[in-house]
Amino acid sequence: MARLTFLGCSAPYPGSEDLPAVVAELGRVVALLDAGEGVQARLFRAGYSPVKITHVLITHLHGDHVLGLIPLIQSMSLIGREKALHVIGPSGLAQYLRRSFDALYFDPPFDIEISEVSPGDVVSLGRGLSVVVGEARHTVPTLYYVIRRGDGALVGYVTDTRPLCGAVDLLRDVRVLIHDSAFSADDKALAQERYHSTSAEAAGVARLVNAEMLVLYHISARYNERERLLREARRFFGNTYLCSRFMKVLI
Ligand SMILES: [Zn+2]
Ligand SMILES: [Zn+2]
Repeated sequence: MARLTFLGCSAPYPGSEDLPAVVAELGRVVALLDAGEGVQARLFRAGYSPVKITHVLITHLHGDHVLGLIPLIQSMSLIGREKALHVIGPSGLAQYLRRSFDALYFDPPFDIEISEVSPGDVVSLGRGLSVVVGEARHTVPTLYYVIRRGDGALVGYVTDTRPLCGAVDLLRDVRVLIHDSAFSADDKALAQERYHSTSAEAAGVARLVNAEMLVLYHISARYNERERLLREARRFFGNTYLCSRFMKVLI
């Protein structure tokens, strides 16, 4: 069994405590998907010790996805972590981490194995699990991840992107698709301009790849009534849910 815990669901806004992040528990493999500011506080609130995290997967080097990683690693150090941490992300991530550690006179007391990956790469997570790397369509180089067990796609983590159109084979028959839904279908022009997706576009991808379930994610704070996005998506893909902070999904 696998369990997802959503730590945040919203596109960034000043003072946010809801920046996008998800914990994927896959037996003894515990992967944190993105690590924006404040992620460790929400990890604790959700009942996770940072020591339990075995892998961190970063989609891209925008602050709302990565600025919480250094504080998280420093807390792991304070707690006395000894086992290695695997950090997976785009080109530039290793330099960002090393320079930050140097500038902060911080020398992690445990190994940090950094894998800079590219679209098409497959990384083993151990215990029969792997992550396949895809290319998103955003304003900066951005990856999406598909966590697989054996032949099956368990979780597709696709955020900060225009809809993927044809290049979706990696996501075929995925159990849970977590997809960018920054904007309402009414604001498609904004989604195009800012390289995000609308609720209806997220639903279109879910349908195209024959997902079992869709979670609308990275939602703009401009919408007071998020159910509107849910209604829009459900017109195209019935088994859609809105991300909510600390929501859990069992697979
Ligand atoms: Zn973002
Ligand atoms: Zn972004």
